[in-house]
Amino acid sequence: MFPFFDSTMVLILPALALALWAQYRVKHTFAKYSEVPSRRGMTGAQVANAIMERNHLNVAVEPIEGSLTDHYDPRDRTLRLSEDVYGSRSLSALGVAAHEAGHALQHAQHYLPLQIRGNLVPVANFGSTLAMPLFLVGLFLPAASFLMDIGILLFTFAVVFSLVTLPVEYNASSRALQILSQHGYLAPDEIDTARKVLNAAAWTYVAAAAMAILQLVRLLILRGQRED
Ligand SMILES: [Zn+2]
Repeated sequence: MFPFFDSTMVLILPALALALWAQYRVKHTFAKYSEVPSRRGMTGAQVANAIMERNHLNVAVEPIEGSLTDHYDPRDRTLRLSEDVYGSRSLSALGVAAHEAGHALQHAQHYLPLQIRGNLVPVANFGSTLAMPLFLVGLFLPAASFLMDIGILLFTFAVVFSLVTLPVEYNASSRALQILSQHGYLAPDEIDTARKVLNAAAWTYVAAAAMAILQLVRLLILRGQRED
């Protein structure tokens, strides 16, 4: 096995624990409030469509398979809601549907962090695929130690991507709660519950960013050790 179980591994354990906890929490919270219908009785798809119409956005709202697979795709301006959200009248469903609608609004309004994030997607994908293999080759072949630097540079793009994701996600959730409240889709006590669902989801992005940062620190330490 590659040196991925060396002593610096200890560094990423807190982030790993946070990621597992966040993953459990979002599933648990979503499931819990999937059982609680909103009093006004609109479905996730109806709320998403209503928000699009109110803002004069030409965005299609479609169902997609899977659980927690909800997303807004800026390339074809389509908002895809999972089976548990699209036709559901639950507080969880409405929170998620309005959050994805929040991404569509960010896109329409050229929200800067979303634009930066969009531009980073290809380079971050490329970076996270190639960073580790290049770093490892550099670590084991002294003649090619410069590959460690290239690996670190590429991984930095993945770190920046995970950091830019944070304002994008928090902003989409705060837009969602504001819209749900302002236009009466949810009553104030229901808003508090929707907030719990969206906060739980936000922790998964915090965990991912923490993991990326600590992973980068780990690579820097490994490179430092090699130079000694
Ligand atoms: Zn989101």
